[in-house]
Amino acid sequence: MKATLNIWFLFFLIIWESGLAQSRKTINIPNIPGYQTLKCDFHMHSVFSDGTVWPTVRVQEAWQEGLDAISITDHIEYRPHSKDINADHNRSFEIAEPLAKELKVILVRGAEITRGMPPGHLNALFIRNANLLDRENVNDALREARDQGAFLIWNHPGWKVQQPDSTVWWAEHTNLHKNNMLHGIEVFNESFCPEALDWAIEKKLTIFSNSDEHGPSNYNDGHRPLTLVFSKSRTQGGIREALFSRRTVAYFGNTLVGEAAYLNPLFFASLEIDNEPLRLKNKERKLIFVKNNSDINYELELAQPGIGFYAPEKLSLKAHQITPIELTGNSEEVAQIKSLKIYYVAKNLKISNEKNLVVTFSFPNI
Ligand code: ZN
Repeated sequence: MKATLNIWFLFFLIIWESGLAQSRKTINIPNIPGYQTLKCDFHMHSVFSDGTVWPTVRVQEAWQEGLDAISITDHIEYRPHSKDINADHNRSFEIAEPLAKELKVILVRGAEITRGMPPGHLNALFIRNANLLDRENVNDALREARDQGAFLIWNHPGWKVQQPDSTVWWAEHTNLHKNNMLHGIEVFNESFCPEALDWAIEKKLTIFSNSDEHGPSNYNDGHRPLTLVFSKSRTQGGIREALFSRRTVAYFGNTLVGEAAYLNPLFFASLEIDNEPLRLKNKERKLIFVKNNSDINYELELAQPGIGFYAPEKLSLKAHQITPIELTGNSEEVAQIKSLKIYYVAKNLKISNEKNLVVTFSFPNI
C-alpha cells in the first residue's frame, strides 16, 4: 500500500515538474483567404524592466492563452529592479527564447524606447541587439532601431500621464514617420484611443492592440487585448512582412478595429450558412440557420430593408451558437428574385471612428 502511494506521488511529481498539468486554450478566430490569422501581443514587461514576472512566465502565459506570437518589450531607460537584476537589455529575450521554441510560441525580440512626450514610448520589434538602443539622444536610439530593421510602434499615444489635456500628434512624430522610424500605433492599450485610429488611417500606420502587461496575466474569463496579424505563414518573417504591409486588426473585448478588407472576410469565415435555395413566396416565412464558429459575438443592425421581404431589425450572432434569421415575403415579386440580399451594420466591427463594417448576406432564392 505504502509503495503504491509512493509511486503515485512520484508520478504526480513528474507531471508537476514537467509542466504537463497545464493546457492551452484555443482562440477561435478563423483564417481568411490567403492568410493565417495569428493572435499576437507585442507589448509586455518582465522583471528586467518594471514588470513583476520572470520572462519565461510571459511565454507560458501566451501558450496557455492560445497566442501565436509575443514580444517582451522591456523598457530600455526605466529599470526599477536594477539593484536586484543586473543584466543587459537582451537578457529577458535570451531567458525566454528556449521555452518559446519548445512551446512553438513565436518570440519577437523587442524593447520599449521610453521617453517623455514627444515622442513618448515606442516599441521596437525585430531588433537584433537591444543594448545598442541605450543612447542618450532619442533620435540616435530610434535611428539605431531602424537600421537594425525594426518595426516601430507609438505606444499608448493617449496616455493621460503624457498627454493630459488632449491627444496630440507632434512635429517629432511627423519627422519620425517621414524618416522610416514610425510604422504602427496602438489604438488600444487599456482603453481605446480614437485619435490613434484617425492617425492610423490618415498616415497609413499599422493598427495594434496590446496588453502592456506588467503583472501576471489574468484573463480567465476572456482574452487579453490582441493584435490579429494576417500572415502568409506562422513564422517570424511572415509576421514582420504582414506588419509592414499593414495587415492587422485590433481585437479587444468584443470589438474589432481594422480595414474592411480584413474584417469582412473574417466575419464571413466565422460563419456557416445554409445555402439551399429558399424559394420564399409572398406572406411565407422561412428560417435560415447561421452558425458562428468564432469566439466573437457579432451584433448586427439592419442597414437597409430587404426588397420583397422582411428581415430582422437586429441580429445577434452569438459565439459558438446557431442563430435563425427569419425572412417573410411581403410581395408577389419575391418569388422571382434570384438571391435575397440583406445589408447589416456590424456594431462591433469598426473601420473608422465614424463607420462600422456593413456586411451583405446573399441567400440563394430560386
Ligand atoms: Zn510598456
